[in-house]
Amino acid sequence: MSAGSDLKRLRVGSGFDLHPLAEDPNRRFLLAGVEVAPSNGPLGHSDADVVCHAIADAILGAAGLGGIGDHFPASDPALAGADSVDLLAQCVRKVVAAGFEILNADATVILQAPRLAPYRAAMEERMTEVLGAPACVKAKSPEGVGPLGEERAVVCMASVLLLAPRP
Ligand SMILES: [Zn+2]
Repeated sequence: MSAGSDLKRLRVGSGFDLHPLAEDPNRRFLLAGVEVAPSNGPLGHSDADVVCHAIADAILGAAGLGGIGDHFPASDPALAGADSVDLLAQCVRKVVAAGFEILNADATVILQAPRLAPYRAAMEERMTEVLGAPACVKAKSPEGVGPLGEERAVVCMASVLLLAPRP
């Protein structure tokens, strides 16, 4: 097996997720499985963890297995309030069962508040554990611009690299 043929087995994947934010004292704010605030979390059918959803979309896409909505439809009542770390773990099992190896993941959260610096290490540790591969989770401020800057939404973008099974 030459190095060249191994390189042809690399598969890149990209993911994007957005959830609206609204004032809700009972809605926990979870990112990468870590609680970054006890209230005013993103709205969604599941726990609305944009980091887990964006990374799940990226690994499924890299493996040619569609997106998270194909595997976990928002219309499924069983998924109400679902733990997105568990959904991501299920997606990891699907791509591993298909013969892929996850090499790394890199995610960027775009959020006005709260500041995520204190949670970054915990978020990376959680994602690295679930993926079984190095994961980076970064944060960017929208600098007060637009709906993100007005704290009306949270966004995450993710890229992953997978190694496809030998043909
Ligand atoms: Zn989502």
